[in-house]
Amino acid sequence: MATKNVLPLPDCAVFLALTPPRTPHPYALISLAMQLPGLIIGGGIAGLTAALALQRRGLAVTVCESAPEIKPLGAGIWMAPNAMQVFHRLGIADKINAAGVPLRNIQVVDAQMRPIMRTDQERVRQRFGYTTTAIRRARLQDALLAELVPGTVLLNKTLTGFTQDSAGVRVSFTDGTTLEAGYLVAADGIHSAVRGQLFPGARFASTGHIVWRGISEVRLRPEFQQSIMEAWAQGVRFGFSEIADDVVDWFVGEYAPGVTTYPNGLKAHLLDTFRNFAYPILPILEAADEPRIIRNEITDFDPIPSWSQGKVCLIGDAAHASTPYMGQGGCQAVEDAFALAQCLEQEATVERAFAAMQRLRRAKALHIVRTSRIMGQVGYLQHAPAALRNFIIRTTPSFIIEQQFRRVYTLNF
Ligand SMILES: Cc1cc2nc3c(=O)[nH]c(=O)nc-3n(C[C@H](O)[C@H](O)[C@H](O)COP(=O)(O)OP(=O)(O)OC[C@H]3O[C@@H](n4cnc5c(N)ncnc54)[C@H](O)[C@@H]3O)c2cc1C
Repeated sequence: MATKNVLPLPDCAVFLALTPPRTPHPYALISLAMQLPGLIIGGGIAGLTAALALQRRGLAVTVCESAPEIKPLGAGIWMAPNAMQVFHRLGIADKINAAGVPLRNIQVVDAQMRPIMRTDQERVRQRFGYTTTAIRRARLQDALLAELVPGTVLLNKTLTGFTQDSAGVRVSFTDGTTLEAGYLVAADGIHSAVRGQLFPGARFASTGHIVWRGISEVRLRPEFQQSIMEAWAQGVRFGFSEIADDVVDWFVGEYAPGVTTYPNGLKAHLLDTFRNFAYPILPILEAADEPRIIRNEITDFDPIPSWSQGKVCLIGDAAHASTPYMGQGGCQAVEDAFALAQCLEQEATVERAFAAMQRLRRAKALHIVRTSRIMGQVGYLQHAPAALRNFIIRTTPSFIIEQQFRRVYTLNF
């Protein structure tokens, strides 16, 4: 884990101006307010990418993270070509590819691993320069952290609330301290405290879906390497891909509202659920370390009226968390982060920058939230509706499916 850019409190002086600005972009029209340092709450994918994107443009910023260390939430993650193009612009795409596994194809299959849908990532690479990369979350976060100006991230800093006026924002923390900044970027995840203060009462959608996630050390046969495969059958789903040599990231999705444990243990339940599925699902599950399997209750929330108010802006899951069925939540966070930095550099005021960022990002991010909800329903179908689904997808011309992927992979900024 890269730690050189992280200052564990209380060892550091808590003052926002401690991040030295790099040389400003020569053509940028930055107002006085812009030159005050920014403050990001949350050191997840959104917060770290936003910090890097701002620093690359010479804009000073500090990240406050509540955890005592930058801890990855979850096992692996798929970074699709839209996120990889952003990483390219930030100069770290090659590093991320080297730390993960660039994939050759993405497939939805049935219980016997027969394709329902397949997209060839080579054509995607020719068009966008990158395929989807599967990577350990810890490695992704390390790659981002290592690029930040030393001292950018303050740990053990949990926001409790904020006030704002025409000069900037004042943020309070659980340790009794306050920090002042020119603007506040809330990258504090799906249960964002900042969103709770700005737009209380976001309507969460309860899906009843539970996703179990893990990493297994297992060597896959060559035809299953460098691929994402997701099996949809019998009302459950099993997705997997390599994230390093002989290391497989996997997830199980099932409709199990409120279930937290199983009488014979989780692993026994999973092995039983997938006993009729073809190789390699059982070997992957058998190699799993049960205590390290992660449980996620899957939810998202209805669109909130705006992502910003005055000098405060929400990004990533704080603004538009989606269910995981498009594998896009983190990628959308990465897009937000870059677009935000671009707008802060280009616009004359913080407020205009936040409005411009939403114009760039809102339609696409909400498209992902909506489509992911539908994919969630479709993937869990059983019996005749599942057979009909498979028939429709198998007979849909590939150019139509590729068009849908292209829409997601294309950046509009
Ligand atoms: C099962 C599953 C699989 C997924 N797979 C993929 C995938 O393959 N590809 C993909 O792109 N996305 C995927 N996602 C979505 C992705 O994980 C999220 O969209 C992404 O992590 C959001 O990043 P974020 O930085 O906005 O929020 P988070 O990752 O939640 O980070 C928020 C950070 O803020 C900190 N924080 C919270 N409150 C405070 C506070 N008050 N003060 C200070 N700090 C605070 C937290 O400690 C945390 O570090 C998946 C999600 C799930 C559930």
